[in-house]
Amino acid sequence: MIKTPFLRTAQEIATELQSDLDNGLDNEVAKKRIEKYGLNQISQEGTKKRWRILVDQLADPIIYILSVAALLAFLFNDWLEAVAIVIVILISVGIGFFMELQAVRSLEALRKMGQAMTQVLRSGKTLRIKASQLVIGDIILLKKGDVIQADARMVSQENLSVKESALTGESVPVFKKIEVLSEDTLMADQRNMLFKGTMVTTGSGKAIVIATGANTQLGRIQQMGMDAEKTITPLEKKLKQLSKWLIWLTLMFTVLIIIAGYIRGKDLLLMIQTGVALAVAAIPEGLSIVATIALAKGMLRLSKKQVIIKKLEAVQTLGATNIICTDKTGTLTEDKMKVATVLFPGGTITDFYQKNAEDFDFVKGKEIFDRMVWASILCNNVAVSAKDKVGDSVEIALLDFARHAGYDPETIRRANPEKLELPFDADRKLMATSHQNKNGFCVYAKGAFEKIIIDCNFILKDGKVQKFDQKQAWHAKVDNLAAQGLRTLAFAYKETKELPAKEKLTQNLVFLGIIGFIDPARDDVKATIDIYKKAGIKVIMATGDHPKTAQKIAEQVGLLALDAPSTKVLQGKDLLHIKNADENLTRQLLDATVFARVTPEQKLDLVTFHQKNNHIVGMIGDGINDVPALKKADIGIAMGIRGTEAAREVADVILKNDKFTAIELAIRQGRVVFQNIRQFVVYLLSCNLAEIMSVGVAALMNLPSPLLPLQILFLNLVTDVFPALALGLGKGEEDSMEQPPRDSKEPIMTRTDWYATIVYGVSISASVLGIVVYAKFVLKLSPDNINNMAFYTLVLSQLVNVFNVPKWSESFLKNEVTKNPWVWGAIVLSLAMTVTAYLVPPVARALELRTLSPHHLSLSVVFALGSLVLTQLVKRVGRATR
Ligand code: ATP
Repeated sequence: MIKTPFLRTAQEIATELQSDLDNGLDNEVAKKRIEKYGLNQISQEGTKKRWRILVDQLADPIIYILSVAALLAFLFNDWLEAVAIVIVILISVGIGFFMELQAVRSLEALRKMGQAMTQVLRSGKTLRIKASQLVIGDIILLKKGDVIQADARMVSQENLSVKESALTGESVPVFKKIEVLSEDTLMADQRNMLFKGTMVTTGSGKAIVIATGANTQLGRIQQMGMDAEKTITPLEKKLKQLSKWLIWLTLMFTVLIIIAGYIRGKDLLLMIQTGVALAVAAIPEGLSIVATIALAKGMLRLSKKQVIIKKLEAVQTLGATNIICTDKTGTLTEDKMKVATVLFPGGTITDFYQKNAEDFDFVKGKEIFDRMVWASILCNNVAVSAKDKVGDSVEIALLDFARHAGYDPETIRRANPEKLELPFDADRKLMATSHQNKNGFCVYAKGAFEKIIIDCNFILKDGKVQKFDQKQAWHAKVDNLAAQGLRTLAFAYKETKELPAKEKLTQNLVFLGIIGFIDPARDDVKATIDIYKKAGIKVIMATGDHPKTAQKIAEQVGLLALDAPSTKVLQGKDLLHIKNADENLTRQLLDATVFARVTPEQKLDLVTFHQKNNHIVGMIGDGINDVPALKKADIGIAMGIRGTEAAREVADVILKNDKFTAIELAIRQGRVVFQNIRQFVVYLLSCNLAEIMSVGVAALMNLPSPLLPLQILFLNLVTDVFPALALGLGKGEEDSMEQPPRDSKEPIMTRTDWYATIVYGVSISASVLGIVVYAKFVLKLSPDNINNMAFYTLVLSQLVNVFNVPKWSESFLKNEVTKNPWVWGAIVLSLAMTVTAYLVPPVARALELRTLSPHHLSLSVVFALGSLVLTQLVKRVGRATR
């Protein structure tokens, strides 16, 4: 790290850091520096070490209880039991370890995908690398919309301004320079420095990295207040609360069962052991880890479809999203601008690209057309020499327009060097530049018609500058172009002797004309919007463009009915009172789907407004101006190709292929993951309830015990976990996008879910107790035999319980559970483990499993299937359960 870099020149720093201002660091040197100084990241949270995961599994209350039980068994010389419990501990730790490892691995993979990128010069080549790979001495290249990824000293710049609010709280962008500063300059005034976490608002530049990771200013501030504390998602929090509550409930039941059994004259030691085993069994310790796996797998599945979810909780929020607020250009439209129509006083050119350069001879040499083309070339930031057309699509289209009309942009730019620029800004909606020529200076301006004509007092007509008094007529012409879905841009100019001051650049302009661009609606958007409609999700278009253009595109993508009255489109000016909207305005705003001529601030207001009205808002944005709204939205969505690094950094979701349609996949996945989590919670809890009820009722009724302590532990390791995990990985119901969004305030377990849990739990325990009663009173079997029959019944009925999980309205044979291959795999695995337990003598002895006659075994099968039939009957008659 370089001390006081603002006191030294970039060259001095480069020499000290063995870098080169023109060619950057050597690749090999960069590699060595990463090894020496580590990655450029602030929190060292990084990956959880494998041994840490293992140790964490041991620090679990269940393991404590089991260890005590093993120790007691050992002290009482009950070797078999002691060894069995140790095996149970090992299996439990093993399963916990692998499950958490899975979750951690998935999260690591996702974290890598969501990493910020940056442009550097290395060994003379311009590369796009992961920001974490930056080292001191790297030369970074910056452009508008980039987030600065390390502290750096400016090397060169062009109109570079940076918003440093993340660091200084100051929201006005500061313009950067390269000169050396004086010793007493405070950080906020160090104009020749760039700081990590700030954003480029205009211009471009080059800088040399002087500090990375925790050594940056941002790193220091964050480390003062933050110690890589792991944040816990709201879902995990809810699940933890649920678990805690269940633990208390279970403990209460356990104590009751022990007391009841004791009063009924059962062996106290056995009752205590059963109680402990029940407590261990019924505590749903797997809930939050299975939920994490389900979320992480959902995210990985999406990443294969080019949707990157940056935060785990976003998956869950996506499922509850009911409003999507989107911009127009590039999201609903192709963003492939092409000039279609040119309007100027005394001339109209339509279907521009169907004509050849000679067709424009009639206007060439006429000052007015020449000036429009010149404005297109000069008031334009796209490089004329660049092979790849990078930059604003309107400006790329304008250069194409000039070339197609037979002009040479390169010559015109060389003859008219730019001296001053008022950059385009989504609030101001115009851009102006001043150029030197042989007569002095000439200002060219382009922008939204309403904004440009405010400053136009003159018009160029018949070769003369005249007073501009037909503004109304031009308004109508612009409306007419916009109503065809064209994006319109107005042009103006003025000549001056001196270079005008920046604030006077657009005063007293001479109006030139209008250009209309085609930007066709994307083909696939309409179908996606129809899907959203069915899914109860409202799509809102909020654009900076003209209301008529917005309306036409909205009609084409199905957001508005064809020929809807123009009052359906609200405008920026209708949003002035949005913060304290009365009832009437509120209704109007809630009804509207298209907002035109809105500023980025108004987009933020719209998000806030809908959130206040209890909506969960997803917001799509790509510019640096969209950052506040992206942050404020419940789900910020940025584009991978078109979006700025700034938008991508704050977003929760990145659409790598820029496709609006991809959000539908994300929402669908969000809904599915939540449904899956609900399903396995219902499944696990109903299985646990069945165990508690079977043992509890048997104790109360003085029946032979259906489950012995070790059997309970076995059940929980074998029959619960795998099917629950499989449910967590399901692909979801086919009609998940035909239902309304979930209410975000809804708990994980609704009343219906609790009802379902009870019905399933009671059905299973009814069949277990049924077989106990039948075996005791009808078959008059020994308690050992009865216990075995009850145990097998419980194993089987827990396994078939997965088929209870789908909604009653779904077919019993063909639903998302029967189609889930993981479920079948889990059932086969669980059955195989039960058979193995029976076949391996020490295990069979520990679990007290004996040979059952085929008749008795088939009775267990019949009773287990009985529980399934019973539940299905209750479900289909009651029609109220899941
Ligand atoms: P969306 O939010 O759908 O992307 P948009 O791209 O039309 O909308 P802005 O980029 O804010 O919104 O543009 C608003 C208006 O500013 C445009 O309708 C156009 O008239 C004008 N404009 C757009 N780009 C430029 C530019 N490069 N130079 C000058 N004016 C521009």
